[in-house]
Amino acid sequence: MNIALISHDRKKDDMVALARRHADWLACHRLMATGTTGGRLQAEAGLAAERLLSGPLGGDLQIGARLAVGEVDAVIFLRDPMTPQPHEPDINALVRACDVHNIPCATNVASAELLLAGWRLAAATRA
Ligand code: PGA
Repeated sequence: MNIALISHDRKKDDMVALARRHADWLACHRLMATGTTGGRLQAEAGLAAERLLSGPLGGDLQIGARLAVGEVDAVIFLRDPMTPQPHEPDINALVRACDVHNIPCATNVASAELLLAGWRLAAATRA
């Protein structure tokens, strides 16, 4: 499974905590992340994620482009709804691409937990 991880600045601590809780599972998949998020995942959760550009420099668009050609299976995108982002159009484009291609996209910790729990359950059921 190819999983994309993105978090806005005020959500990065939440992303690291989420990744630590699910590190065993996430480590079994191919991870990609926007630049700063990926760096923190590596340093603080021990997860090797391919680091793309930082979000404001085009990282969301890189993920969206990959998603559009079938190279992303799920997105965990912890957005900050309280702070305007300079790359708002890119964020909307990525979420729209998820909807266009029917790719699960969790935009907060609660939905990310459900997404991860669902995957784990599905994998355990298949095993
Ligand atoms: P970052 O990008 O992980 O490089 O901070 C995410 C964003 O802010 O969109």
